Amino acid sequence: QPILSIRGLSKRYGDFEALSGIDLDVARGEFVALLGPSGCGKSTTLMAVAGFVEPDAGSIVLAGNDITALAPDKRHMGMVFQDYALFPHMSVLENVAFPLRMRKVSRREREEKALAALETVQLPRKSIYARPSELSGGQRQRVAVARALVFDPVMLLMDEPLAALDRRLRQHLQYELRHLQARIDTTVIYVTHDQEEALVLADRIVVMRNGQFEQVGKPRDIYDSP
Ligand code: ADP
Ligand code: ADP
Repeated sequence: QPILSIRGLSKRYGDFEALSGIDLDVARGEFVALLGPSGCGKSTTLMAVAGFVEPDAGSIVLAGNDITALAPDKRHMGMVFQDYALFPHMSVLENVAFPLRMRKVSRREREEKALAALETVQLPRKSIYARPSELSGGQRQRVAVARALVFDPVMLLMDEPLAALDRRLRQHLQYELRHLQARIDTTVIYVTHDQEEALVLADRIVVMRNGQFEQVGKPRDIYDSP
């Protein structure tokens, strides 16, 4: 049974059809990349799964539960964005613990879990009391991933998380992310417009175009096709 099933998902913005009835099954532990040019509907798909975009039609079923109408914070999704969206006035540790504070987890448990998440992403211990602005881009991205992991989400949703970084660092973090995902055995949907990134990271690539799926397959199949 897939952990995530999307059926007939559609979304219009005014007269513009951003998503035209897409279907997708994601297996537990799978890393799926949504690949395609700007404006093809990748973020809309991801945000509908996260609950920040309300679809006009279709359904989203997570681990057997229909979550189509559920509020974002009830969906147990960890999110990572390009701009990190870390809070500048909070330390790294406070940033990572924040989702737990929203969930009314006790202070002690928050700290334990935040430290564990920071260890998972291999952030140096000496950086945990720094402000985000004192970290490098790569470290900030690790913190954002730790924050997304801290409440043991059912899956991770990532929207161009490495796009703001330079090529070398991006390649390094791609490699790290792939290993992290395998190590903690989490399920990921990853939005990118970078074909190379999708090829490196994904078990399966969904090529999107004009709000539809143009092609779905393993990296090899996509890569070898004319
Ligand atoms: P992608 O992530 O592939 O770049 P998006 O899902 O962000 O694509 O957007 C798909 C299309 O829908 C784009 O043409 C975009 O301009 C449009 N769009 C996205 N969000 C809105 C919105 N809130 N209002 C109007 N149009 C939007
Ligand atoms: P607001 O209600 O002010 O729009 P949100 O609750 O949507 O704020 O989110 C605040 C910030 O917390 C966002 O910028 C986002 O980066 C982060 N965030 C929201 N939901 C999650 C989540 N499930 N996992 C990780 N970070 C999240």
